[in-house]
Amino acid sequence: MVVVAGNLTGTVLSGMEDQKTSVEAILDGLGMERARIALVGQTHVYSASLSAVTATPTTVFRKLRPTRFEPVACVRAMIYSAVDALQEQTVAVRPAARLPVGLPFGDVCIDSKACTLCMACVAACPTEALRDGGNVPQIRFQEESCVQCGLCQAACPEKAIRLVPRMVFDRQARRAVRCLNLAEPVGCVVCGRPFAVAAMVDRVAQRLANHWMYQSDAAKRRLRMCSDCRVQDFIRENGRPDQKTPFPDEH
Ligand code: SF4
Ligand code: SF4
Repeated sequence: MVVVAGNLTGTVLSGMEDQKTSVEAILDGLGMERARIALVGQTHVYSASLSAVTATPTTVFRKLRPTRFEPVACVRAMIYSAVDALQEQTVAVRPAARLPVGLPFGDVCIDSKACTLCMACVAACPTEALRDGGNVPQIRFQEESCVQCGLCQAACPEKAIRLVPRMVFDRQARRAVRCLNLAEPVGCVVCGRPFAVAAMVDRVAQRLANHWMYQSDAAKRRLRMCSDCRVQDFIRENGRPDQKTPFPDEH
């Protein structure tokens, strides 16, 4: 029950209503009554849009064990603690609750057919919720660290990322680091050394298909070489940079 004071502005009150809606979604997922959260006050004080403000709470619920929380600076950590405390006293009816867009809890889904494992999303993630796979071409993800900021989605050149705001009730599942996409590295066509993933090499070849520099078979093949072999091959065919023939627009 949240007691609403009479001097709050409409913006603050509507923010409180939004938060109440989120708490209701979490209570739903935990199999608890939605009416456990109520904004309580004098309805005539507030605008008509604040339908959730009720004069008095009427329902009596099964008593929950009070839980003590250590004060922490991070509001998200506090909310997770509260959800964990509730979860310990009930049997969740769903593994997760869907939340309204904009809340800082949730999942990231990657379309593995579109993703080239370029790692732009990993570089953009401010919380390290997205991580690379070290020596393996892989994207890994820890849901508990994701604040749904959308930076990864904005950074993805393939539009392969979808955000799913939700609250996962199982603490271990939230903290687990899972693989969102993985690919076998491909080897250089000259030396065989793994240097990229097939999807990325194919996408680069596709994008350069009409470029004047990549019309010959030799130039197309060079796209499938590692950086060392590519330079050596280029010099073998065109001479050293100080002996190079000028580009068409340098005449
Ligand atoms: S930015 Fe997009 S394409 Fe690149 S690794 Fe991330 S999801 Fe895949
Ligand atoms: S939404 Fe933000 S925090 Fe979550 S994975 Fe993407 S960049 Fe990281």
